[in-house]
Amino acid sequence: MLFEILTLFPSMLEAPLSESVLGKARESGIIEVRTRNIRDFAEGRHRVCDDAPYGGGAGMVMKPEPLVSAIEESRARTSREAHVILLTPQGRLLDQRLVEKLAAESHIVLVCGRYEGVDERVREFVDSEVSVGDYVVSGGEPAAWILVDAVSRLIPGVLGNDSSAEADSFSQGLLEHPHYTRPPDFRGRKIPEDLLSGDHARIAKWRRKQALIRTKQRRRDLLDRLELTDEDQRLLEEAEEELARNEEAS
Ligand code: SAM
Repeated sequence: MLFEILTLFPSMLEAPLSESVLGKARESGIIEVRTRNIRDFAEGRHRVCDDAPYGGGAGMVMKPEPLVSAIEESRARTSREAHVILLTPQGRLLDQRLVEKLAAESHIVLVCGRYEGVDERVREFVDSEVSVGDYVVSGGEPAAWILVDAVSRLIPGVLGNDSSAEADSFSQGLLEHPHYTRPPDFRGRKIPEDLLSGDHARIAKWRRKQALIRTKQRRRDLLDRLELTDEDQRLLEEAEEELARNEEAS
């Protein structure tokens, strides 16, 4: 997978895209990430990339010429078909379903806006528009980092154990079960017995039950979208009974 990030601030992305999971994936060649400075595509001695908005008002707007030249160069660069994404708070919200769809691409180009955003006419030169959440950050760079990370996790070989992405929250429509590690007793808080049992079936059942109840408590909207099996219904009831018993006891 090739990710190209068009940005006015390539150095902002250096560390986030070079450390840990992404750094290793790049080193092993599973993913390739290139940043391109939009300024290199601007004309004139000062390579100006922004200008005042028509109609007046605060802030600057990113000019269309350098952005579109950068997009066109990216599209022409490889024989693979590029999927060009404009990062904008006005785009489709990034969720695991969209991440899964993007993981099937082979060349993703991310356009990072700054200031008040990009000239409206740039939208005609991209394939989709994506937002990382209903809030506004100062530039597309943090959004690009999030998208590259989330998509890369689904590419075989990027995670040490590919099945860990399958169990992650949202992949099966549920939040993931809780995790515990040593010590077995942390300030009086113990590990659930099922996890210490060594019985794989019992552990799997406990994890499923926790994922179900956790999702019901925190993200009812996710649970409502799922068709639960009879076994899931039973586990959920069991979890609710256990919770009620614990509340009564405390
Ligand atoms: N004035 C714009 C608006 O209200 O829609 C926001 C501009 S924002 C300060 C500057 C740039 O940051 C945007 O062009 C976009 O590239 C990026 N950005 C900000 N919030 C984002 C979000 N939630 N998702 C994706 N990109 C975002």
